[in-house]
Amino acid sequence: MTRSVSIFGATGSIGQNTLDLIRRDRASYRIVALTGGRNISQLAQDAIEFGAEIAVTCFEDALPDLRRALAGTSVQVAAGPEALIEAADRPADWTMSAIVGAAGLAPGFHALRHGRTLALANKESLVTAGPLLMAEARAHGARILPVDSEHSAVFQALVGEDIAAVEQVIITASGGALRDWPAERLAKATVKDALAHPNWDMGQRITIDSASMFNKALELIETREFFGVAPEKIGALIHPQSLVHALVGFQDGALMAHIGPHDMRHAIGYALNWPERQNLPVERLNLADIGSLDFAKPDETRFPALRLARDVMQIGGHAGTVFNAAKEVALDHFIAGDIAFTGMSALVEDTLDAISHEIRLHDAINSLETVLETDHLTRVRANQLAKTLQETPV
Ligand code: NDP
Ligand code: MG
Repeated sequence: MTRSVSIFGATGSIGQNTLDLIRRDRASYRIVALTGGRNISQLAQDAIEFGAEIAVTCFEDALPDLRRALAGTSVQVAAGPEALIEAADRPADWTMSAIVGAAGLAPGFHALRHGRTLALANKESLVTAGPLLMAEARAHGARILPVDSEHSAVFQALVGEDIAAVEQVIITASGGALRDWPAERLAKATVKDALAHPNWDMGQRITIDSASMFNKALELIETREFFGVAPEKIGALIHPQSLVHALVGFQDGALMAHIGPHDMRHAIGYALNWPERQNLPVERLNLADIGSLDFAKPDETRFPALRLARDVMQIGGHAGTVFNAAKEVALDHFIAGDIAFTGMSALVEDTLDAISHEIRLHDAINSLETVLETDHLTRVRANQLAKTLQETPV
């Protein structure tokens, strides 16, 4: 029996890895929607190869190019945020949410409304609107499966376990490209420096977030939202080899570690085949060859993002929405060369502080509309505050 699949963010790193797995077992799948952004040639090529029902670019001005690239084929074309939602409303058994940023929230939300399986790589949607997303899944009998490697690891360590017996959840971090840089040097780090990730091959934004530890900060909050574990039970551990992805500690003293290669096709494949395990084209680890695994405590002075994430988890309510939006703006300004690498955490902290005087951060989020309003307000404030930072010499 074939399964119908849609992939949001198909042209990105996660999207391409998902298509790689599907390509190896082509006859088992029928592709409904593939979506992308600026990479029109990739989107069109994949839509043709996989016989997609519809190809959507999130950018309206890219529609003529997409139309041209797919002229004479049976693939439908559409563009813009509304078209993404329309694509998410098309029935599919399994949907991959792999758009980068809060832009992934609305399509994921819509996919859940049809009571299907949502494989969630887009961590930003859980950080931004975790309680809403989880409630939406429950209300429609839909299932969310984690794709972020650490969360897939925790999910796997929890199979057959009682969440009430969990004492701690530890997610690991490679530490990113700048792990060993002293504070003075970090202030001068360039985009190129931050992109030199030691282990994982990922999209540009998440790679820079790894270097600043904002990726791990988002993942702490993601852990809180996905598994419902209390913030004080969640921690991060530096593990330079990126082979142990997470550890779950139980009240009897057992610590269950998930060990696997640093290849996202493991976590994607687990979500694609769940609840079964299928043969995956990933490296088999030889621990005797690897020899040793190292662990260290993260340095929150050089990387304040983790401290901010703990504050955000304690506040709850809208704090995650503000944190994520401020982080996205800070990253835009760092990539544009407007602010220093270390200016990103300063900007996020200042924005959280500024917004806390404007809205009641603690209040529970109750609708997608309020989340989008808070997200918008945060982006306006963060952009204003970024100007002040730009005027401050590094
Ligand atoms: P990429 O940057 O490689 O890909 C992002 C995808 O989203 C592309 O298809 C891109 O289109 C599309 N896109 C960009 N902007 C928008 C927008 N405004 N609206 C709609 N679509 C858009 O990202 P990754 O694949 O690395 O990451 C995707 C998600 O998965 C992120 O949330 C990330 O945190 C998460 N993740 C990624 C991991 C990885 O290994 N890469 C690991 C764990 C989680 P185009 O490229 O055509 O412009
Ligand atoms: Mg991860």
